[in-house]
Amino acid sequence: MNRRRFLRNSLATAVAASLPARDGLAALLGPSAKVAADIDAITGDGAEITLGRAAVQELADSLRGNLLLPGHEAYESARHVINASIDKHPALIAQCRGVADVQKAVDFARESSLLTAVKCGGHSHSGKSTCNGGLMIDLSTHRHVHVDPKAKIARVSGGSLLGDMDHESMSFGLVTTAGTVSHTGVGGLTLGGGFGRLARRYGLTIDNVRGFELVTPDGQFRRANASENPDLYWALRGGGGNFGIVTSFEFQLHEMDRTVIGGIVGFPINEARQVLEFYADYSLEAPDELGLEMLMVGSSPANSLITLAVCYCGPHRDMDPILTKIRSAGTVVVDTVGAMDYVALQKSGDVNDVRAIGSYTKSGFLSELSPDFIDTIVRSFEAREGRTTVFATQHAGGAINRVAPNATAFPHRNVNYIPLLIIDWPIDSDPQEHIAWLKQTWKAIEPHIQGFYTNDLIDETQKQVDENYLGNYDRLVEIKNRWDPTNLFRLNANVRPTV
Ligand SMILES: Cc1cc2nc3c(=O)[nH]c(=O)nc-3n(C[C@H](O)[C@H](O)[C@H](O)COP(=O)(O)OP(=O)(O)OC[C@H]3O[C@@H](n4cnc5c(N)ncnc54)[C@H](O)[C@@H]3O)c2cc1C
Repeated sequence: MNRRRFLRNSLATAVAASLPARDGLAALLGPSAKVAADIDAITGDGAEITLGRAAVQELADSLRGNLLLPGHEAYESARHVINASIDKHPALIAQCRGVADVQKAVDFARESSLLTAVKCGGHSHSGKSTCNGGLMIDLSTHRHVHVDPKAKIARVSGGSLLGDMDHESMSFGLVTTAGTVSHTGVGGLTLGGGFGRLARRYGLTIDNVRGFELVTPDGQFRRANASENPDLYWALRGGGGNFGIVTSFEFQLHEMDRTVIGGIVGFPINEARQVLEFYADYSLEAPDELGLEMLMVGSSPANSLITLAVCYCGPHRDMDPILTKIRSAGTVVVDTVGAMDYVALQKSGDVNDVRAIGSYTKSGFLSELSPDFIDTIVRSFEAREGRTTVFATQHAGGAINRVAPNATAFPHRNVNYIPLLIIDWPIDSDPQEHIAWLKQTWKAIEPHIQGFYTNDLIDETQKQVDENYLGNYDRLVEIKNRWDPTNLFRLNANVRPTV
């Protein structure tokens, strides 16, 4: 990339964006700022290209949302994703307000062979939803949830966050599986699978999708459900953003009491081995209505804790013996479990200042927590040398296991746990030693792991990504060949076309 030209473009756009207040307001509400010069950009294959000023202006004028260029006042916040250590600069950002905007952006990307990133909640650990020098199609301006309480269906637009969906659905006493942090995007979470506190009862988020509306790489609007484009319907449930941009999800909702039993039971970290042994047994026999996450968290022995995080959505009268059992795992030092609002529980892990910390995460799938695995975890955690570390296992099993591995593109149906090792650091410190520590530690854990969650993709090789689709890989390649033969949508757990 010609750095001098990049700076010149930025300056020119900055001037356009800092025009008097009336124009500034127009830039925020659309139409976009005037494009002052040609723009250097990158194709999907990494070649340098120049986008003509007039063509970019035409794109900007065709959108209901904004086209943001470097220097535009809204560009800085839009280019970021949740992981503050990802610092990429797209050449342009199309903030889409609806299907028509997505079609315009996709047409522009395809016609220019641009490297294309699609952002919903921006939670991809590895920053797949942003890029250097390409086009970011930002869906965060396309958030809407419509609940049909009679049909028990939610129609959720492609840029919505999980919190939007929980909030609207639960107000009708209805719910579907969503992840554990409310500012995660419905888009990325759903397309990769979708684990959450209710997944043991209602299945993965994809198991509750009745249909999709999407814009495919040819810019066409399509529906994908059991009768229309059933190949896409299958592939979008676990195959990620490989096949198009989903503008709307149709979810099956379930009746659920809004008050659940939630909270954490905490034990001293020096009882980690016995708590993990308890968890290994009890988590397998627990009722589907119980989601029980394990978290070891701390930065020094003095403030470290092992906790079991509870979400029980069954009849409250059945909860007492379950809680007694959980509390018997060790010496209880913290206990916050009680009746609480489900939507509040779903927000309890939200992060206020997401821009202040960098993080690096490795995760995988497991069907059991073997004594060897427990030993490895306990030793690794003891050796973390005062770092801010979290080792967690999300609880799977239940309804997730009762779907055939080839019924959707998500093949890992024997998963009972998703172990995650997370390290974070203040964004102004050097990340290298933290990342090196985690990679080294993960080497000891990796032999136990049976595949990984594509939504937690971090730096796996293409071979590992291909193999991770297991028996569904060949069918995914066929569908990719049909719908995205030029691999326009490649910033994901990529299914590479072979045509
Ligand atoms: C704090 C945190 C908590 C998490 N908790 C959970 C959890 O409880 N359960 C769980 O299953 N996962 C969880 N995850 C992982 C999460 O599923 C992934 O990070 C997921 O990619 C997030 O989706 P997003 O839309 O926020 O991400 P983005 O970074 O915006 O997008 C991720 C990928 O999805 C694609 N994409 C997004 N929206 C669309 C769309 N509408 N159409 C086509 N492609 C699209 C993007 O192109 C990109 O490849 C968590 C992650 C974080 C950081």
